[in-house]
Amino acid sequence: MLNKPRLLTPGPTPLPERVRLVMAQDMIHHRKPAFKKLMGEVQEKLRILFGTSQPVLPLACSGSGAMTAAVHGLFVPGEKVIVVEGGKFGQRWREIASLRGLEVVSIVVEWGRAVSLAEVEAALDAHPDAKGVLMQLSETSTGVLHPVRGIAAVTRKRDVLLVADGISAVGISPCPMDEWGVDCLLTGSQKGLMLPPGLALIALSERAWRKADTVAPSCFYFNLPGERANCEKGQTLFTTPVSLIVGLGESLDMFLEAGLETVYRKQWALTMLARAGTAALGLAPLAPERFTWGLTSVMLPAGVDGTRLLQVAADNHGVVMAGGQDHLKGRILRIGHMGWVDWADIVAGLHAVASGLRTCGAYVGARDYIETGLAAYEAALQVAPGTPV
Ligand SMILES: *Cc1c(COP(=O)(O)O)cnc(C)c1O
Repeated sequence: MLNKPRLLTPGPTPLPERVRLVMAQDMIHHRKPAFKKLMGEVQEKLRILFGTSQPVLPLACSGSGAMTAAVHGLFVPGEKVIVVEGGKFGQRWREIASLRGLEVVSIVVEWGRAVSLAEVEAALDAHPDAKGVLMQLSETSTGVLHPVRGIAAVTRKRDVLLVADGISAVGISPCPMDEWGVDCLLTGSQKGLMLPPGLALIALSERAWRKADTVAPSCFYFNLPGERANCEKGQTLFTTPVSLIVGLGESLDMFLEAGLETVYRKQWALTMLARAGTAALGLAPLAPERFTWGLTSVMLPAGVDGTRLLQVAADNHGVVMAGGQDHLKGRILRIGHMGWVDWADIVAGLHAVASGLRTCGAYVGARDYIETGLAAYEAALQVAPGTPV
């Protein structure tokens, strides 16, 4: 009751007041001129965010729906794809591709480690008939950032489509898809975009469209060429979540008013804050080397009950964070810093973690974790974050 609720989860994420207020407006009709105008404006802003000259198609579904649309729209049963499987969402690519009847070659990567370029090149050499590589930019279950840029430099020279799940990366760290040579980039509304769940966005490269145009739709609902044709008229194939599109226009305005470089710099600095703060609390990172800019995953000391820690943080401090999935359940903590969060939210998160550790009898913070974290944040704000490799 006394605490302000703080949603530090890797989706859904907190919403800016500006976005909430525009979404409270009355409905407009999705086939009428006001909506067409809005779609045209949103389209222009989305192309800047995705770094593409191609249309960025809104789909009325969660992020997994866009993953499904990508697999069904780009590949036909019997084709072979390489999947980077280093966490829960990598596994999801395998499951979606298998259900589509694709032959899946998995590169299994230890949870917490990023795939290497050499591993992907070796898989491509061993399977010259592979038609695609399916991977995450940011593997949200582990907090790893995979080297999509480097892999795109390899796939763009071959007849292989690179499909990147950017659900916890778009709006968080750079991924200019045309410049990098990514063939399909997709995301969902509830992670980096400061929106409620329910809307997915997907863009294809020119060569991916050439392939997609040859693939017969496998179901009625997901039809990328049909969506593209509608998008050109400021429309969507089916009734779109109009309020989310209105909210998207506003959140993209916020991004573009600040400038994407500033947005990424803030995300990088928040990451430094969370990493330095948790390190000062004696927590080891799950992703020590290549880590995402939207969440920080740390291992809990042996004997600490992760569920209890999360409960203390939520009940006593109003801070909602995430635990681990599958074999990491109860063993790791994931602090989300995506969406409408700032340094003060992460400081609150660190305090809640410290309190949870104390309750669980595992508080070892020898240094002032808040001061250490904030010093790292301030230092990070002074330098351009650069782009991921
Ligand atoms: C959240 C997430 C998903 C799943 O998205 P839904 O919107 O829950 O379907 C898939 N991939 C990544 C990387 C995610 O972070």
